Amino acid sequence: MNTTFDVIIIGGGIAGSSTAIRLAQLFNSAAATWRKILVIDERTTNTEMFKVGESLPGEAKHILKSLGVFEAVNNDAMQGKHNFCYGNSSAWGSDELHDTNTIFNAYGNGFHLNRSLFDETLVKTAESHHDRFITIIRDSVTKSLLEKNGDGEKYWKISISSNELPIHGNILIDASGRRCFIRKCLPDLKRSSFDKLLAFACLFEIDTSQPPDSDHNTLVESCAFGWWYTSLLPNKQRIVVFHTDDDLVKHINKKRKIRQVEEFCEFIKETTTHITKCISEHAYHPVGKRIMCMPANSESLSQFASYENRWIAIGDSAASFDPLSSQGMLTALYSAKLGAEAIFFQYFNGKKTNNKEVTVQPLEIFQQYIENTFRKYKSEKSFFYNKEQRWNNEVFWKRRHEDHIEK
Ligand SMILES: Cc1cc2nc3c(=O)[nH]c(=O)nc-3n(C[C@H](O)[C@H](O)[C@H](O)COP(=O)(O)OP(=O)(O)OC[C@H]3O[C@@H](n4cnc5c(N)ncnc54)[C@H](O)[C@@H]3O)c2cc1C
Repeated sequence: MNTTFDVIIIGGGIAGSSTAIRLAQLFNSAAATWRKILVIDERTTNTEMFKVGESLPGEAKHILKSLGVFEAVNNDAMQGKHNFCYGNSSAWGSDELHDTNTIFNAYGNGFHLNRSLFDETLVKTAESHHDRFITIIRDSVTKSLLEKNGDGEKYWKISISSNELPIHGNILIDASGRRCFIRKCLPDLKRSSFDKLLAFACLFEIDTSQPPDSDHNTLVESCAFGWWYTSLLPNKQRIVVFHTDDDLVKHINKKRKIRQVEEFCEFIKETTTHITKCISEHAYHPVGKRIMCMPANSESLSQFASYENRWIAIGDSAASFDPLSSQGMLTALYSAKLGAEAIFFQYFNGKKTNNKEVTVQPLEIFQQYIENTFRKYKSEKSFFYNKEQRWNNEVFWKRRHEDHIEK
């Protein structure tokens, strides 16, 4: 295997694969056919493996088209491998359900994705359309070091678990998601956390003797301890997710061990009306015995790119969002596109853009984009949490309302 690359991308999730595709498009248009991009991801290729994070809004269609993946995703949805999503129903701020329908959205319907299949579609697109530029390795990155060559130029030295030879790259793109690998390499880089939100997810399957579930809306319901959502997935499955703060779990646990499936199901009944109705109406039963638990808090790096040290962070690695916003994938896609363009125009387009007096640097534009996106997100998040006023004395809601007042 070639061990020297122009760009190395750690992580081939949505952000990593999309960056690779966009960079390859740019290299192709510049006839820079000798350029080499390496994507390293440790994920399995098994598209049956369940991955949380399924609601993709209609706004994403445009960028999926520009990456050349929309047709494949839409065809998969037509064949029932993804579901279409036609809106939201939420009991938030009152017991009643309020519906929003994508008919009134300029972008039309969204998707409830089989996430593993969607992520794999992006990887396959990167592999097939741009095989001249892109190499994909299924492995874990164990170490990355910023080094200098004999001419004093900086480069990245990457180690992967199955290969003793280090791989060299001119530019490093961190697309490793919430694990944010770049932090391990740059001790001065800080990642701030703005809350302690955790998500507990359980997959349900419909009883085949029951009439099919045709509710394609995302259903959101708040309760005293946090909030819930459920979405209809392909293969007659439904995901139900509960969100609360890390330190509040023990208070709930006194009554219910929500990390156990039976107790989780009881907890749904105790704290929801609409989700309980949806689960019981179709006689859904839990798949497996495990409740998946994962961080869902808002986090952001102190810096998203460095010209001197030749790196950028994209997707969840740069900033991660509360799932209430349904914004994670969309931002991962846009940060990937802009990140690839910033890298290309900063380092590879042949013109000098490193004179700070003359131009706004592409990497600075990228930095500002993530900063602005995250600032806007925090203010919108605070606005939506403030719309729920029924449990003002509960710690979960108090925290979010105080957050609102501070702004
Ligand atoms: C409970 C929950 C619900 C969510 N729901 C939604 C939703 O409905 N809609 C939405 O838009 N977003 C949602 N999100 C957020 C969304 O899933 C993320 O924003 C999105 O996955 C970010 O994509 P990414 O490519 O940046 O990171 P990831 O999807 O996390 O991909 C990172 C990749 O890096 C790889 N990797 C990491 N470290 C290494 C390493 N050392 N070596 C090799 N590979 C490595 C991993 O294998 C992985 O494939 C949700 C999140 C949570 C927690």
